[in-house]
Amino acid sequence: MKAAFFKEHGGSEKILYDDYPDPVPGADEVVVRVKACALNHVDMLLLDGRFPPPEGLPHVNGCEVTGAVEAIGARVKGLTGGQRVIIFPGFSCGDCEYCLRGARTVCVRYGYLGAHRDGGYAELVKAPAANIVPLPEALSFEAGAAVPLAMLTSWHALVAQAEVKPGQTVLVQAAGSGVGSAAIQIARLCGARVITTVGSDDKIEFAHALGADHVVNYRTQDFVEETKRWSNKRGVDVVIEHIGGETFERSVYALTRLGTLVSIGSHDTHWGRVDLRHVYSKNLRILGTNLGSILELRTILEHLAEGRLKPVIDRAFPLAEAGSAVQRVLDRQNKGKVLLVP
Ligand SMILES: [Zn+2]
Repeated sequence: MKAAFFKEHGGSEKILYDDYPDPVPGADEVVVRVKACALNHVDMLLLDGRFPPPEGLPHVNGCEVTGAVEAIGARVKGLTGGQRVIIFPGFSCGDCEYCLRGARTVCVRYGYLGAHRDGGYAELVKAPAANIVPLPEALSFEAGAAVPLAMLTSWHALVAQAEVKPGQTVLVQAAGSGVGSAAIQIARLCGARVITTVGSDDKIEFAHALGADHVVNYRTQDFVEETKRWSNKRGVDVVIEHIGGETFERSVYALTRLGTLVSIGSHDTHWGRVDLRHVYSKNLRILGTNLGSILELRTILEHLAEGRLKPVIDRAFPLAEAGSAVQRVLDRQNKGKVLLVP
C-alpha cells in the first residue's frame, strides 16, 4: 500500500509518501480501507519527537479514521466486507483495575491508533474488531473522520467531567482547533452560553457561526478581562483548556467560584502554573480528561446524523500531499479539521 510516514523526527518535510507494508489482521483484528483520516495535534507531537511513537520508527500517524472493512480476522464476528465504519481510536486491555472500573481511557496499557500503532495516513489500517463502530449512512466518510478524537474528547470533557448545565457559561480556548470547534457546539447543545478565543480576526465569524456568543482575539485582547466583562465580573463556570503555559495559568483566573477547568491537551507546552490561592479560596476543580467511551461516540454519531452537531472540516488533502496538510495545521491556518483522503 501507499502511506505517508516518517523515518526521523522533525517538521512536515520529514513526511514521506511511498510504499509501506500492508497491515495483516490478527485473529481479533480488522483491516480497514481508509476513506478519510483527520489530522490532530498529537500527530505533530509524534512527528517532532515530543511524544515519540512507542513502537519506534518508521511510523504512520493518524488517529481519526473512517473507511470500509477490507479484511477480517478469523475470530471476528458481526462485521462484513465493505461495511462503512469509524474506528474508535483508544485501545485498552479490558482487565486492569481501571478497565474493570469502567475507566478504559486510563487503562495501564492504554494506547491510541496512530500513536501506539500505525494509523490512518495510509490506504489501509489495522485495528482491534472491538474498536470498529458502524458509520451511519447519513454521515460521509469525511464527516465521520472529524469526530472520534476531537469531538469525543470535547464531549467527555463537557458532559461527563464538567457536567455542564443549561444556563451555565463556558470559555472554550481556540475556536479554530478541532477540539475547540467541537466544544463550542457541544456546550451550546447542553444549553450553555459560550465565550471563545481565536488567534486572528478572520476566525471571528467562523466562531460565531459555530454558536459562540462572544469571540475574543487573544492576540489583541486580554481573554481574562474580556471574560470578566462578558460575564458581568462573575467569571465562567467551565473552561475547556488545551493550550498549556500562560493560557492554562490565566484560564484559572477566568473561572467563577466553584468553577471547573478541564485540561484536555497541551498544544503549546506540557507545563502550566497554577495560582493555588484561587483554587482553594474559590473551591475550583481542575480536571484532566482524554478521549471518552465507545458509547459516547455512538451518542455523538446520532447527534451528527440528526444534524444537532456538525463536523467542522477545514479542507481535505490527497494522501500524497500529507506534508502540506501537516504544515497547514502547524501554521494554525485551519478552521476545524484538516483531512487526508487516499
Ligand atoms: Zn486496562
